[in-house]
Amino acid sequence: MIKITKFGGSSVACAEQFKKVKAIIEADSGRRFVVSSAAGKRFKGDNKITDLLYLCQAHVTYHVDYLPLFTMICERFREIRDELGLTTDIETELAEMRDKLPDMTVDEIVSRGEYFTSRLMADYLGFPFIDAKDVIAINFDGTFNFDLTAERLHVILETCDRFVMPGFYGSLPDGNIRVMSRGGSDISGSILARCINADVYENWTDVSGFLMADPRVVDNPKNIEQITFSELRELSYMGASVLHEDAVFPLRERNIPIHVLNTNRPEDPGTIVQDKIAPNPKGALVTGIAGKKDFIAIEISKKNMSNRVGFVREVLSILEHYGVSVEHLPSGIDSFSVVVNKSDVKNNIYEIIARIKETMQPDVIRLTEPFALIATVGRNMNSRPGTSARLFAALGNAGINVRMIAQGSAELNIIVGVLNKDFEAAIACLYQTFAAEADEVKAQAEAN
Ligand code: ASP
Repeated sequence: MIKITKFGGSSVACAEQFKKVKAIIEADSGRRFVVSSAAGKRFKGDNKITDLLYLCQAHVTYHVDYLPLFTMICERFREIRDELGLTTDIETELAEMRDKLPDMTVDEIVSRGEYFTSRLMADYLGFPFIDAKDVIAINFDGTFNFDLTAERLHVILETCDRFVMPGFYGSLPDGNIRVMSRGGSDISGSILARCINADVYENWTDVSGFLMADPRVVDNPKNIEQITFSELRELSYMGASVLHEDAVFPLRERNIPIHVLNTNRPEDPGTIVQDKIAPNPKGALVTGIAGKKDFIAIEISKKNMSNRVGFVREVLSILEHYGVSVEHLPSGIDSFSVVVNKSDVKNNIYEIIARIKETMQPDVIRLTEPFALIATVGRNMNSRPGTSARLFAALGNAGINVRMIAQGSAELNIIVGVLNKDFEAAIACLYQTFAAEADEVKAQAEAN
């Protein structure tokens, strides 16, 4: 069993966290390939090393003395090393970095967070250190070269049956370091899992996986034990975030599961994310509920619109001209609405409306007040009558008016629009309804 084991910033924030990581690694002999983020926040209000490095780089750009900040960063690494009783020589390289900082690229500077944290982790675990710049191949356009990465790994694995590799960066064809987007160590772990052909990609963080609803809205929501990549995509798009979205793509085609686990509570079951989970006609209907506030709709109607070929396309091309992405397009016979993110049109909504009016001559064009979209997502909803009945009954009983309804063609989700002010109440009542249904299903399965 090969496991890629990735630890996020909070899991490697200080010596205490390093100890938890070691216990996790030692608990399972399959955990031989470790990816580490840069040391993150140790407490609320603390700084992530990566943020400090970005700030340091800004000091260099604006010719502000960067030494105090740089010394603070060095101290964080030294503290971890000394508290763990390690003898890793980081001073020489840190001194070199201090002197050549003005000549380093931004990517090179910020990548050092992962680099030094992983050097310390490798020493602490007694594993070889492998530099990500010698493994992760990134093309000039920012895409990944999986074949070259796999080839390099193949050579490394001939002499190495375990290692620690820094996340977040790799190298371009010219050898220069290139970092990924923020939170990118998740992606490094998934590239490694794909190229090593791992059985599972363990992503250790500070939450016990995905929850059925946002804990800021619902008290103590249930944990999601299993979720498909498609369900996760729906929920992440609507605001649920634990894993970097781009970490999913390298694994999806290979059907390598991601197991999201909590470094601070390793005994919790976490969440397993995978491409295919056999449909369970007797399983709980809903996997999770997520939503976002602040959408608006441009409502357009015109007599006999249904007979006019190209009307919708012309309206959409106006939005395209303004670079606005359309979220939903609910339609009637002679009317339709274009749902967009309020922030995407905040500077030009009146210009867009004027343009639609002038070009399309609609009978009515109106802007709604801001509303929220809530997605109720579940792979088991497909072909099972009764889900929407429960959903609308719950909202109706809670006195919540539904402004818009959409269902994806795969029957994976039902999306409703409610006023911003009803957002929390809507999520809470949907959660109660479907968590209760999940409990019933579980009780029934146990009784049988
Ligand atoms: N250290 C990087 C960041 O803070 C990458 C990561 O932690 O995944 O964004």
